[in-house]
Amino acid sequence: MSKFSIRSIKGTQDILPDQSSQWQSLEEAIRNFMGHYGYQEIRTPTFEQTDLFIRSMGKETDIVSKEMYSWTDQGGENLTLKPELTAPVARAYIQHNLGGKSPLNKLYYIDTLFRRERPQKGRYRQFNQFGIEAFGSEYPEIDAEVITLAISIFNKMGIKELKLKLNSIGSPQCRIDYRETILDFLKPHIADLSEISQTRFENNPMRILDTKVPHEIEILKNLPNIADCWTNEDKDHFEEVCSLLDSTGIKYELTPRLVRGLDYYTKTTFEITSSALGAQDAICGGGRYDGLVESLGGKPTPGIGFAAGMERILLAMNNVESTSNSKQVYIVGLGNAVRPTVLKLAEELRQSSITTEFDVLRRSIKAQLREANKSGAKYAILIGDQELEARQAELKDLSTGDQKKIELNNLVEHIISLPF
Ligand code: AMP
Repeated sequence: MSKFSIRSIKGTQDILPDQSSQWQSLEEAIRNFMGHYGYQEIRTPTFEQTDLFIRSMGKETDIVSKEMYSWTDQGGENLTLKPELTAPVARAYIQHNLGGKSPLNKLYYIDTLFRRERPQKGRYRQFNQFGIEAFGSEYPEIDAEVITLAISIFNKMGIKELKLKLNSIGSPQCRIDYRETILDFLKPHIADLSEISQTRFENNPMRILDTKVPHEIEILKNLPNIADCWTNEDKDHFEEVCSLLDSTGIKYELTPRLVRGLDYYTKTTFEITSSALGAQDAICGGGRYDGLVESLGGKPTPGIGFAAGMERILLAMNNVESTSNSKQVYIVGLGNAVRPTVLKLAEELRQSSITTEFDVLRRSIKAQLREANKSGAKYAILIGDQELEARQAELKDLSTGDQKKIELNNLVEHIISLPF
């Protein structure tokens, strides 16, 4: 047994060098996509005042009631590692008066989140999301753009078996009315509900609709839909979102039970799943939150966005094309005298954007050549004492085995001109 006993925290992951190129490719694809849709990046701090999350999400949500990493710092402030991104982005939007500078702000983020959940495949305590938040438009066009962006990006990434679930939870009044509908409907069934649903009945009845318990699903079958509580405006808005999506050919499934757990959602709400993922099949959740900015002290501002889990995207992607540079040149040096020349050569090649490696383990020529081949380099440069004296080096094409002498003075220029 090794003496080393400090391990990473449960639910956190190291991304090792052989996985990091996948992450880089994913991040690059997201950034390119966001550029095409006119979204600009926003970065917010890793921790915020705890109150921000309590006020935006509500005390009764799972996240706030039991999953936040919160502490009181040395100055007595209550702080929390961010468990979601919409509230921090809305906080920054208000604090920096972005709405005063432009009537429409289309923002995106790629960020790390923290939730003390029960770890399993696709569910971690530290994980990454990318997402967008569009502030300023109340109209269905932006709902359609946000949903289209999400679907297109997952299609582009080759994620199979995508399903878009769509609903509207109407205006805040509709939510209040529907809460009463649920309470009235479930009152006669309280004794049959699971303990967790009984608690939700008291605290957050809408969440009962997320139940996975078969006999509760059965009971809920006859619950009236939230659509019964929509105002005319809610209905018009939703119908227009649907018809805009129809015009782009995007398929969706109307899902009346999709109400989502967070307090600030209004109107359009959606979720994208992929059955390629197994039990944790949600890739992305989003919706409209027209009341959020005002509830955090800003001017009334409509908003809509989504957040997508990056670990799950990578799990669902069969093959991410790697953008990592293959090693292009490997310098094989032998003898003490060549070391300064090798270092200088490597530096000149790297400055010219040629990926270059050289041996720092003082291995034999044979071992260095083996390493050069293993590294995937296209060319090897061989320099020993004799070559150095003659101010030359051997240039070897590792794919063909061809070898020729090149003057040291011309070497860098020559290599730059070679095909890679
Ligand atoms: P949410 O912020 O809960 O709406 O989640 C948005 C997306 O983030 C989900 O659809 C998942 O893809 C991902 N996600 C949420 N929680 C976790 C977690 N604990 N671990 C990994 N991914 C998560």
